[in-house]
Amino acid sequence: MIESKNPYTGEVIEKFKELTKPEIDKALENADGRFKKWRKTSFKERADLMLKAAAELKKNKKEYARDISVEMGKPISQAISEIEKCAWVCEYYAEKAEKHLSSKTIKTDASKSYVSYEPIGVVLAVMPWNYPFWQVFRFAAPALMAGNIGILKHASNVMRSANNIQKVFERAGFPDACFQNLVIGSSKIEAIIKDPRVKAVTLTGSRPAGSAVASTAGGEIKKSVLELGGSNALVVFKDADLEESVKTCVQARFQNTGQSCIAGKRLILHESIADEFIDEFVRQVRELKSGDPLDEDTFIGTLAREDLAKDLEKQIQDSVKAGAKIILGGKRDRAYLEPTVLTNVTSEMSMFQEETFGPAIGVTTFKKDQEAIDLVNLSDFGLGVSIFTSDMDFAEKIVPEFEDGAVFVNELVKSDPRLPFGGTKISGYGRELSADGIQEFVNKKTVYFK
Ligand code: NDP
Repeated sequence: MIESKNPYTGEVIEKFKELTKPEIDKALENADGRFKKWRKTSFKERADLMLKAAAELKKNKKEYARDISVEMGKPISQAISEIEKCAWVCEYYAEKAEKHLSSKTIKTDASKSYVSYEPIGVVLAVMPWNYPFWQVFRFAAPALMAGNIGILKHASNVMRSANNIQKVFERAGFPDACFQNLVIGSSKIEAIIKDPRVKAVTLTGSRPAGSAVASTAGGEIKKSVLELGGSNALVVFKDADLEESVKTCVQARFQNTGQSCIAGKRLILHESIADEFIDEFVRQVRELKSGDPLDEDTFIGTLAREDLAKDLEKQIQDSVKAGAKIILGGKRDRAYLEPTVLTNVTSEMSMFQEETFGPAIGVTTFKKDQEAIDLVNLSDFGLGVSIFTSDMDFAEKIVPEFEDGAVFVNELVKSDPRLPFGGTKISGYGRELSADGIQEFVNKKTVYFK
């Protein structure tokens, strides 16, 4: 049995029976059978259904959001925003898929030569619990619009949301098996990736999970896309607008109770503004309201599981042993961890080196601009970086210095259906969203007429 447990109350809210081998086989057979018909549908037919999925999300956003909150502790207002964002990505691809996948003529010695973009078949998505809907929709909307079929292996702690996502597509009127949730644990994934009916896999999650999935896919010569989290830096240069940058940095770290791959996790401050910045930062963090995820004014919920809160507590304590100083928070109660700020963090500490997945941030200072750039690039992760400065020429000049997949200037790193999203180094490879995202799982077919 797979269990969903409310991390705020500790109560088991639902149990799900894992699919048996024959049931998984049937699901793959249905998916493969559906692909043969779905690939022939027009963009217009797919877009009409995708717009209905968007409408369904908007209509029942409270129902879906509530299940997210009770399954993984996300404050309800943020869960509702998550559902609204899913509607946006459905609308975006309903409108843009055809354009992003229209054939591209290339002039050669042929009478006609072009590239066409064709669906590849059944794609497996292995997804995490931190944005139980968004992580799935940003895969599913482009995949289905491209003419592919989606099968989902969601995180074991959010199976109710996983079933709800299948329900969204059913309620929207998508044909059977266009999108199926498989109620399975991760031990079943290897055999599914190896199944010839599955053509590719995408995973969002931790490095060990990504490495396991990509190794299996690589062995089968199947494409994979990996989004494995990050340790984004928030770099505040001495000429930054302090009021604006503090506000943005608080959001960047603490929204979604800090459980975001693109959250700002390393606060890197110019030493001349550090004291003033930290005072105001701590003041604003103190004001974030912790409480019942189902209360509309709660901003900090619990972590999704108690073990995750314990992991973060250990990273904090290890850093303190190595010389960091807690100036706010630091205490844990089951799955809840107080919003925590540490100073005197150096590049050798866990708070700097590892991904910290929750409401805790370490502060490191720098003297010279180049030192800040070097600190950012020291990380093994490469998802994104936010820099704060009032000098746009300086910002433009240093953008190429960063090794990350995204640089945001005077803004927190955020995902947007119109922009590619993905990382470098151990943050993974491939891109989601935008034209780049929908082109990951297609056959770019070269066509040549003599
Ligand atoms: P995991 O990476 O273990 O889980 C993510 C998904 O991968 C789940 O569906 C999980 O299934 C599956 N999975 C886990 N192990 C394997 C495997 N060996 N082979 C195939 N699939 C697997 O994340 P955790 O929940 O354990 O979180 C641990 C840490 O991972 C976090 O603290 C954070 O640092 C990072 N993380 C990053 C995310 C991101 O957005 N990039 C999101 C979530 C976590 P199952 O639940 O059944 O184990």
